[in-house]
Amino acid sequence: MVAPFLRDVTPESSDLVCVCCNCRRERTAAEEWRDHTPVAGERLTHGICPACLYALYPDLAPLVHPHS
Ligand SMILES: [Zn+2]
Repeated sequence: MVAPFLRDVTPESSDLVCVCCNCRRERTAAEEWRDHTPVAGERLTHGICPACLYALYPDLAPLVHPHS
């Protein structure tokens, strides 16, 4: 079982900004994670980046990112 917050969030063609709930980096369209700069009016959703996923949930990480 995978906790709901570990689901892969990909807000395609939306204005949602996906921010890692651990390191606060934001996910870009290119599947990269970079430092997040808060912007007024932005809408955030939270995910977890692969680096934090492996650091925090080594047992679950292969299930979420099996090819990482
Ligand atoms: Zn992170």
